[in-house]
Amino acid sequence: MIRTTRWSPDSCGCSMEYTWDDAVPDNARIHTFKAAPVICPAHQAIATPLACYNAVLGENVLKNRVFDTARAALNVPIPTQADWVSASIGVITPAMESFRRFERAVRFSYDAQRILHVSLVGFGLDLTPPQKPALQAAIDTAHGAGKALVD
Ligand SMILES: [Zn+2]
Repeated sequence: MIRTTRWSPDSCGCSMEYTWDDAVPDNARIHTFKAAPVICPAHQAIATPLACYNAVLGENVLKNRVFDTARAALNVPIPTQADWVSASIGVITPAMESFRRFERAVRFSYDAQRILHVSLVGFGLDLTPPQKPALQAAIDTAHGAGKALVD
């Protein structure tokens, strides 16, 4: 059965609809653009709803990838299945504690030129002077220079 999902990314104010087939396994599933019910001010100059969807999707994917690049650069572990199971019964492992602090400290925003800005604020994770250029270099290497800036 073809299903429609409405998606509101955390990287802008747009709201998009795409369709997918629930008969296709998760790892082979394809999302097909359907409509752009809400186009935020940052994306209103884009010529077509499909181009807008692709821009919004690209920005959200970049944000998620930069999240992981920053996590890895700062040696924050990825919680294992055992860490998640443990957390579900209220026992927070050191890896989960570290990951959660990172999630709370990392901030993302897109500027008017749609360049991603990333910073870490609080939770003991404010970037030190040597960490900032190191993280910027890791992001530039992984995603290309000028796509995301460490503030
Ligand atoms: Zn938008």
